[in-house]
Amino acid sequence: MDLVSRHRITTVRCVLDHRIDPDRPRQALPTLVICGGHRTELYRLATDLPRRYDDLDRAHGTPGPRGPGIPTGIPFDDDIAEHRTHMVSVVASWCGAIASERGITPPADLHMDALAAWLYRHLEWVAAREHMVVALLGELRQISGRALHLADIRARRVPLAAQCLTHTGGTRCTGQVSIVIRGDDWTAHCETCDTIQDVGPYLRGVRSGKWITGEGVIMLARLCGLPCSPDVVRQWHHRRRITGQRQKDGSVLYSLASVQAYLTKRQPPIVSKRMAG
Ligand SMILES: [Zn+2]
Ligand SMILES: [Zn+2]
Repeated sequence: MDLVSRHRITTVRCVLDHRIDPDRPRQALPTLVICGGHRTELYRLATDLPRRYDDLDRAHGTPGPRGPGIPTGIPFDDDIAEHRTHMVSVVASWCGAIASERGITPPADLHMDALAAWLYRHLEWVAAREHMVVALLGELRQISGRALHLADIRARRVPLAAQCLTHTGGTRCTGQVSIVIRGDDWTAHCETCDTIQDVGPYLRGVRSGKWITGEGVIMLARLCGLPCSPDVVRQWHHRRRITGQRQKDGSVLYSLASVQAYLTKRQPPIVSKRMAG
């Protein structure tokens, strides 16, 4: 191995910021300039693009009844229509930029599904180029976050007394996160730094994999605004509302998926902030 390639292997660090323990350098994956965590995030954002886009369509198409004194839905619907157009133009311009740098033909079909699928096929190439991956990840986070935010009218937002884990320039964000629950999609949102984050680190101890303890069920139920106790958890289990598995020591672990599905069904209808205001 010559000195140059040895140098590359030992010094290529992920070029992106890390919110947990930001001063610890992360090794980039071989041939890439980003770490495994950021590569996963990049792929997830690209994969979810059509879904985020369709969520907006649903939010756009069903604004719901508005009571007397509530302004018409036009400004809100305009935001949604505008953001849908913006999402397509951002993804299309990325496809165009990649195609021109690679000397290939950009996608002909300018629908979100086709654009996102085309982009997806070039992510590995992008992830090897610092000037591209930093900007692409930033823009995908921005358009996805905004889409989630706009489509969130029927989501349940639960403030969690937990400090945001995001770091900027080595300083931890002072915001507090809320958990945003939309169906079986659980994310953490910080209004201070306006980031949509993985909910996992905030529910550590409650959510460690697919099975959770009775205390975990109680905590999640309370997050969803449902009074709960060990007796209530046992009843839910007894009535087969949630799935459980008895352990050798007599304790019961509950299937996280079944708990999430049940709590989602039990949530009261939410009045959107905009409609209420
Ligand atoms: Zn990284
Ligand atoms: Zn924050």
